[in-house]
Amino acid sequence: MTPLRRLPVRLAPVPGESLDSWLAAFSRRLATPARDLLPALGLDVTTLRGSTTGLAVVLRDDEATQVAKATGVPVPTLHMMTLARYNAVLRTDPSTRRLMPYHAWTRRRGTWFCPRCLAETGGRWQLRWRLGWSFACVRHRCLLVDRCPDCGQIPRPDAGLLHIPLASRCGARPATASRTHERCGADLTASAPHELAGGHAVLAAQRLIDTMLTTGTATFGLYTATAAGQVFTDLAVLAPRILGTAAMPHAADPAVGDLAEVYQASLSEGGTAYHGAGSGPGHAVHAAVAVTRAMAVLSKADATAAAAALAALPAPGITARRLVSPHDNGPARSISTMLTDTLQRARHTLFPRPPSPSKARTARPRTPSGRRHDLLGSVQHCPDHDRAPPRSNRSPCPTRQRQDSDGPPP
Ligand SMILES: [Zn+2]
Ligand SMILES: [Zn+2]
Repeated sequence: MTPLRRLPVRLAPVPGESLDSWLAAFSRRLATPARDLLPALGLDVTTLRGSTTGLAVVLRDDEATQVAKATGVPVPTLHMMTLARYNAVLRTDPSTRRLMPYHAWTRRRGTWFCPRCLAETGGRWQLRWRLGWSFACVRHRCLLVDRCPDCGQIPRPDAGLLHIPLASRCGARPATASRTHERCGADLTASAPHELAGGHAVLAAQRLIDTMLTTGTATFGLYTATAAGQVFTDLAVLAPRILGTAAMPHAADPAVGDLAEVYQASLSEGGTAYHGAGSGPGHAVHAAVAVTRAMAVLSKADATAAAAALAALPAPGITARRLVSPHDNGPARSISTMLTDTLQRARHTLFPRPPSPSKARTARPRTPSGRRHDLLGSVQHCPDHDRAPPRSNRSPCPTRQRQDSDGPPP
């Protein structure tokens, strides 16, 4: 292997930039596609699956050393340009260079963007825009744009390994492209983002998220000097539930009413913003509404107030069970005791236990022990048995039915 030489051109990253954005800027400066540039930086292009996106997820130590040697950018700075810098609050997989979606609450590919930030920096992309937790630009007071206005795809900083990416231009291959190398090329700085008024709840939620990502701790509402990773785990559970069960924003909503139109427009006909508990948000407005509402719950002073706010969220006619059901996904994904308490209290508010005169009549069926008195007891307490005679071909009592199918009575 040819020893690496320091490149004749220096190009400093801009603050907060992602590694693939910086590599794209390098490609432009040297008029060299990534396929030829990366080997000069000591990087193996054969493992990249046709894109530099994975390099913005994880850069191995030996790779960072090589890139630092070739470019003069310090190793710690290079690591700060990858999502692995957020490993306290999300999970990256070094072997696949992918984010684990659950923890990051993010999309699988591409990145949302602020067109005004792109315009100001000459087409440099922020690393944070890749996280589902980033949905607004607090500097320009707008929602992030999540699709190319021309081809409708989620753009990314590079244009594949064979192309020199154009600054702020969409490098996606249009679905209607007839040639393999055809690229969209739309000017992304011309996108019109949804403006947010100063003091908007969405901007406040985004500022809180940004502070947690920067400091690694959280002190607000239910949390006191809590590790940010714990709060993001709580949000990763709560935000999708809110997407699936809460009412869509309407104009009269004091917090997110102005997003009603853009929210409605983001949904395909009959579509939903909810795509499963482990799935990230599909649009920036979905993330903005869900996280802002989740933050409004978690920002309450105690679990009682938080539960009342949560219980007020379900849309009429939507079953709220999913919103407040207990969460158990193992110790690696444990929600905080504060959120557990909040869910339990909200559950009792939304689904109060009926004043049952007879505990036995509402008891869940169980497998009988096989002893005679137990079987007779089950039959006696079977609610259907008390109300009506059994149908001819099967027992109405689940307990009895289970016994019949398990084997002959003693
Ligand atoms: Zn911006
Ligand atoms: Zn495009």
